[in-house]
Amino acid sequence: MVYRSSWMTEELDLFRESFRRFLATTLAPRAEQWRADKRVDREAWLALGEIGALCPDVPEEYGGLGGTFGHVAAVIEDLEYELPEMASPIAVHNGIVAQYVMAYGSEEQKRRWLPGMVRGELIGAIAMTEPGGGSDLQALRTTARREGNSYVLNGSKTFITNGQNADLIIVAAKTDSNQRAKGISLLMLEAQGSDGFRRGRNLDKIGMHASDTSELFFDDALVPPENRLGDEEGRGFYQMMEQLPKERLAIAIGAVAATERMVRITTEYVKDRNAFGKPVIEFQNTAFTLAERKTEALIGRVFLDWCIERVIAGELDQVTASMAKYWTTDKQVETADACLQLHGGYGYMREYEIARRFVDARVQRIYGGTNEIMKVLIARSL
Ligand SMILES: Cc1cc2nc3c(=O)[nH]c(=O)nc-3n(C[C@H](O)[C@H](O)[C@H](O)COP(=O)(O)OP(=O)(O)OC[C@H]3O[C@@H](n4cnc5c(N)ncnc54)[C@H](O)[C@@H]3O)c2cc1C
Repeated sequence: MVYRSSWMTEELDLFRESFRRFLATTLAPRAEQWRADKRVDREAWLALGEIGALCPDVPEEYGGLGGTFGHVAAVIEDLEYELPEMASPIAVHNGIVAQYVMAYGSEEQKRRWLPGMVRGELIGAIAMTEPGGGSDLQALRTTARREGNSYVLNGSKTFITNGQNADLIIVAAKTDSNQRAKGISLLMLEAQGSDGFRRGRNLDKIGMHASDTSELFFDDALVPPENRLGDEEGRGFYQMMEQLPKERLAIAIGAVAATERMVRITTEYVKDRNAFGKPVIEFQNTAFTLAERKTEALIGRVFLDWCIERVIAGELDQVTASMAKYWTTDKQVETADACLQLHGGYGYMREYEIARRFVDARVQRIYGGTNEIMKVLIARSL
């Protein structure tokens, strides 16, 4: 029996068919170059914009397809299957930055930024984490001082996805340093021509080599007050808490898709590879390992689909999203290890997809809130 996600539609089937073909034939051949360059080129972003894969849930009046979060989920999944190099950059752009602009942007802000984000002319990033810490967001130290008709930003951020490519960066900063949560606001920094804003190194990661990850520095960088997200100062922490379930689900979507893909490519490999005169799938250990992983992938898929339905209905809560993020990414990492093992020595060679998926998987348990923080949030609901 073939399982079908409850949120899939015939329209999405058609979109995904041509999208996957486009990824496999047009963009995937460039992935190796991106891994060497440590970033995806701008042309690829523009090409995704052209085909309708950027911010597909943005309403038509702002240039989007007017889809639902189902479209966002489909794009992340298809990238994870066919072109994992772009999955994380696009998940941040579509699944986080565009969501903040749609949720908290004024009419003027939406008209100014969303069409460019849909076309791939404005690449989005979100800068919460600082060198001093990422888990304790309320303790962040970047300041935004009001001076005349500007906010003056000072501080630094690190590990920022799309940090090198980004044109539009949501910066979490303290507009009131005497307060913790209540002192945080979200400011949209437009990178071009911003004096006082500087990109640091494109960081040298153990995996996800095509996804640029950077330090960012603000030395008296000016941001006009009309670039603040939300009508009032001090709403930033609450805005992040509202949006984090979607961000965490975007990570879980990638995790389940990657798990499914690893089970598939490993099944193909072990059917093809011989030892002791027979295909290695005929060893019970191999078959049982894949049987277990296939079962877990489907369990993850069904739970994930339920969470995606909840997002579409506007009902996904923090605790459920945390469960999805922690469990699916733990399973992704375990599956990567088990599938690499079944590849033998070839699994350790970077030219094999499973080797890249093994190192790429590891960060999924760390970003978007570590899996320990997920358990803290779940435990509070006990
Ligand atoms: C490749 C990559 C991309 C990223 N992209 C972005 C991005 O685009 N934007 C962004 O803002 N950030 C980004 N991050 C940062 C990421 O979200 C943080 O690394 C993460 O939230 C953890 O923060 P930290 O690294 O400061 O770890 P710390 O907060 O220092 O945590 C260290 C350890 O202590 C544990 N710990 C901390 N507090 C608790 C607690 N209360 N209970 C139990 N254990 C605890 C953690 O789980 C972890 O194991 C990215 C990180 C990476 C590696």
